[in-house]
Amino acid sequence: MRAAILSVGTELTVGRVQDTNSRFLAAELTGAGVDVVEARTVGDDLGQIAQAMGALAAVADWVLVTGGLGPTADDLTREALARWTARPLVVDGRALAHLEAFYRDRDRPMPPINRKQATRPRGARLIANPHGTAPGVMLRLPGGPVVVLMPGPPREMQPMFRERVLPAVRRASGRVIHSRSLRLVGIGESDIETRIADLMGSDPSVAPYAGLAEVELRVATSDPDARRARSRVDARVAAIRERVGQWIYGEEDDTLEAVIHRLLLLRRETVSVAESLSAGRLATRLTRVAGSSETFAAGIVAYATRTKETLLGVDPDLLRREGSVHPEVAVAMARAAKARTGTSWALATTGVAGPTPGDARRPVGTVYLGLVGPGGEVVREAHLFGDRDAIADRSAQAALVLLWQCLTGRDPDVPTLPSASPTGRP
Ligand code: AMP
Ligand code: MG
Repeated sequence: MRAAILSVGTELTVGRVQDTNSRFLAAELTGAGVDVVEARTVGDDLGQIAQAMGALAAVADWVLVTGGLGPTADDLTREALARWTARPLVVDGRALAHLEAFYRDRDRPMPPINRKQATRPRGARLIANPHGTAPGVMLRLPGGPVVVLMPGPPREMQPMFRERVLPAVRRASGRVIHSRSLRLVGIGESDIETRIADLMGSDPSVAPYAGLAEVELRVATSDPDARRARSRVDARVAAIRERVGQWIYGEEDDTLEAVIHRLLLLRRETVSVAESLSAGRLATRLTRVAGSSETFAAGIVAYATRTKETLLGVDPDLLRREGSVHPEVAVAMARAAKARTGTSWALATTGVAGPTPGDARRPVGTVYLGLVGPGGEVVREAHLFGDRDAIADRSAQAALVLLWQCLTGRDPDVPTLPSASPTGRP
């Protein structure tokens, strides 16, 4: 089964909006065992859209189009499909009633221009859009491909694709797709690839997706027989786990914070944080998990150097001598958070977010993470990249990775402070 993707919108071709739709669709389709053979982007131009549809229909069984279904004059995707297939646009009675109800429910009059969102080329089906006003369009061309039009906004397109379009693609392929995702932290994408190069064959396919300082490995296969598909994937996952298991923190939709929460619950332990450059991000991450108040006690943002002294009692001589970006400062912050909140663990971040460097010894991205636990203290130095915001985000991620590694005993070489406990490990 072959698919092609068409992204429509002048905002994309002029570089004002990043085309995330084609990336999403390509990943989803590939994961479903469909070959994505081409992806194009065109502006809001009737002729160009129609021409691109024709070209992609020549190479694919499914042509998936996003964008240009809005109510305004520059939204022309529906019209382009009608023109290319030489079919008239007809009003769909049910869709029109639905659209009118959408506005009635919100006590707003329906703008007359929205009426065209209830039209479809003759012979096409509309796909309901629970998240917006523009329904999708599906047109099965006799003897040719299926053309699917979906709205541009990702929050409308993604559920429509997953709930309505992908099942149709799967049915048409007649194969069962089975997949599992592994989530890794503390190791880079290329390092993973090097370690499992011989396991990255085409069936099952093993595709790495890089996230924020973490990597997702998706293992997928398709087969007419569901049991066979599952056992092939399970065997490959087991082989991958054998090589890189120490970096795998979870599967599927697990998040690092959710896994940490579960570990703490099991151990009946709690955590607090003292944050400088992550400035609340660590607390935000840890509280994303439902029920987190059972394991997360408090977060202190001690951002200015002075508050590290006044709020957390960090040694003023140390701060004067070394500045606030220093391993001893990170540990002192964590110690203070633990002492103040009485938690089993406390995690602290300090570092240079930039864009101005700290000093010659502390370039932008230099980060120290302090962790104080039931059995000792550790500090880790990290060198993070990206702009100010990315460095702050990554510092929170790196701190969570450190906590997870210490909770699970995964990291054999956590650097320890000279002043750390005899074991050097929490
Ligand atoms: P449209 O359906 O063309 O009116 O698109 C509405 C909005 O959806 C655009 O202004 C973008 O913000 C967003 N959008 C459209 N196409 C894409 C795309 N390929 N990737 C990400 N966002 C998009
Ligand atoms: Mg548009």
